[in-house]
Amino acid sequence: MITLDGSYGEGGGQMLRSALALSMWTGQAFTMHHIRANRGKKGLLRQHLTAVKAAQQICDAQVTGAELNSQHLVFIPNSIKHGNYKFEIGTAGSATLVLQTILPALIKAQGKSTVSISGGTHNQSAPPADFLQYAFLPLLAKMGVQAELTIRKHGFYPAGGGEIVVKIQPCPQLQPLHLTQRGNNKSSYAESWLASLPAHIAERELATVREKMGWSEEQTHIRSVRALGHGNVLLLFVEDEHVTNVFSGFGEFGVSAEKIATNTCKEAHLLMSSEATVDEYLADQLLLPMALAGTGSFSTTHLSSHCQSNMAVIQQFLSVNFQHHQLASGSIHIDISC
Ligand code: AMP
Repeated sequence: MITLDGSYGEGGGQMLRSALALSMWTGQAFTMHHIRANRGKKGLLRQHLTAVKAAQQICDAQVTGAELNSQHLVFIPNSIKHGNYKFEIGTAGSATLVLQTILPALIKAQGKSTVSISGGTHNQSAPPADFLQYAFLPLLAKMGVQAELTIRKHGFYPAGGGEIVVKIQPCPQLQPLHLTQRGNNKSSYAESWLASLPAHIAERELATVREKMGWSEEQTHIRSVRALGHGNVLLLFVEDEHVTNVFSGFGEFGVSAEKIATNTCKEAHLLMSSEATVDEYLADQLLLPMALAGTGSFSTTHLSSHCQSNMAVIQQFLSVNFQHHQLASGSIHIDISC
């Protein structure tokens, strides 16, 4: 039984989700104390509880502590079952984070799976569904993973009501990925998505993007979508030869459209003016699949505390080394090896 302290480092939900993913993958049981100790609302919220129950169902696990607000969990996995699954978060909690918890297990399964997850598809502090579609999953595809994500319905905070559906083929052996260069830019564009909100929000966001990024009218698009409640997300896609990075900003009452767009452009500039291959979010999310492949490498703009905590959790389950050093340009190179 591996014992994990959920208050270590970042002390957030990723440490729990990674532990669940790794436990399913390796068959090793774990117990976690102080779950999400560094967050305002500690313990298991609906998103985390759905992830625990999804993992439990997929590998027939014996679980103690799977209750709302629980700060302690025991998870004893059994063998992984592929199949058709449907998980409902019941709030606007992030569907993409639930998916990332169970994806490795379903990649390792004996047969193909289809998973529907309902909840939020576009949430603050979580990867938007488009991020998984255009940034995360294409990199996994280079590692041999065939997983196709469709957004059935958009779901924004606080109403939720979104749904993603993912078809996953088994992949007996993950291939190493070494992401040393972004390569030449193939295309860059922005989309501002609106659900039941006035068009001027998207117009002002995209005008700011054109000004800050130097992009043309043809590179900026307004998209309208029906959702349960209202919502707005601004997405910047930077598609380079070897990797696509996706930057996002979320409409918020009391924060101007210009400010949201300016902050999102700053994140894009940070990467584009560096020699890093991936932004800080892709960085912490790539560690787990690369560790499962046994080896891999990439560079990022800085070493986030999500990255450092995720490395610590991964090393509890797998004998992998993470080495990082600063490049002359200031970016951080990360190497994963057995
Ligand atoms: P936690 O805060 O521990 O629940 O983890 C949040 C996860 O969401 C981390 O893997 C982050 O990389 C990811 N994340 C947060 N914000 C974004 C974003 N804007 N784009 C992509 N991923 C994100």
